Amino acid sequence: MSTLKIMITGGAGFIGSNFVHYIANKYDDYEITVLDKLTYAGDMTNIEGVDLKFIKGDIASEKEASEAMKDADYVVNFAAETHVDKSITDPASFVKSDVLGTQNLLELVRKYDVEKYIQISTDEVYGSILDGSFKETDNIDPSSPYSASKAGGDLLVNAYYKTYDIPVMITRSSNNFGPRQFPEKLIPLFILKAIHNESLPVYGDGKNVRDWIYVEDNCAGVDTVLHKGKIGEVYNIGGGNERNNLEITKLILEKLNKPESLITHVDDRLGHDRRYSLDASKTKKLGWEPKWTFEDAMEETVNWYKNNANRLYKSI
Ligand code: NAD
Repeated sequence: MSTLKIMITGGAGFIGSNFVHYIANKYDDYEITVLDKLTYAGDMTNIEGVDLKFIKGDIASEKEASEAMKDADYVVNFAAETHVDKSITDPASFVKSDVLGTQNLLELVRKYDVEKYIQISTDEVYGSILDGSFKETDNIDPSSPYSASKAGGDLLVNAYYKTYDIPVMITRSSNNFGPRQFPEKLIPLFILKAIHNESLPVYGDGKNVRDWIYVEDNCAGVDTVLHKGKIGEVYNIGGGNERNNLEITKLILEKLNKPESLITHVDDRLGHDRRYSLDASKTKKLGWEPKWTFEDAMEETVNWYKNNANRLYKSI
């Protein structure tokens, strides 16, 4: 049986590791290589038990990325600095990984015989929208150093496609939640804090809206784009579950049977986008759609963090 070699960057992080499990469970004939720098957000526990080759390295290093990429048929780039708050205090590390790291990988796509490269991007590159939803053809207008760095990566992917005709695609997903997310992001942080009866610091009035997607549905979307997407195109992957931060917080407290008195309001995040919303109809035309209801996915997520609370609470 001939095998396909897939190289997944950031595979020890949240979405990357879920994608590693997704691919390993779905395909018998894929050889998986993971390239991950193992920053604070990467954790080898996330990919324990999966048959793969692991390379500890930086996507911005030509030598380390070459070692991981030289034989790859497919490359999926999840590796990035991802925390908006951290990008406000340390923007440079975001430019290094999310812009220069992407550019380094694109050079290697030119050099090696890579059949397809997928850049994993975010709805945050479009910026805030008060009415309606963003389509792939809309302009990008990022607000934070994180989303600007991701937008820089996207622009380079597009430029390399136009200039060098390399086989690239971009997926832009909405806010993911689910197992194995580092507890700096809203849902895992608040679940762990609530379990330990700590206060939950909600930014501003808590009315900022995000479109939430269960991570497994995003992985299925990326898999669909990898196999059915058209080279050179961008695909939005949204869950269609718009909720504001206060609603999410109250749901977490309800599921854990904790009082709403744990909620505190803190100063708003600088440049905090009010609402993100994606039109995912283009990806749905490829045959993908989210399978999980928001309620079931939240139940699954809360249970997973309850079972892993002891290990993860230490990293808060
Ligand atoms: P994460 O922070 O949980 O994991 C990132 C992983 O990348 C970690 O394992 C880290 O060690 C690794 N990494 C960071 N810099 C690296 C570098 N220079 N070289 C090699 N490895 C490096 O992130 P996540 O939430 O899983 O996000 C994955 C991707 O999906 C990112 O590109 C992010 O922009 C995108 N995205 C995330 C969301 C979300 O809701 N989490 C939504 C849309 C898009």
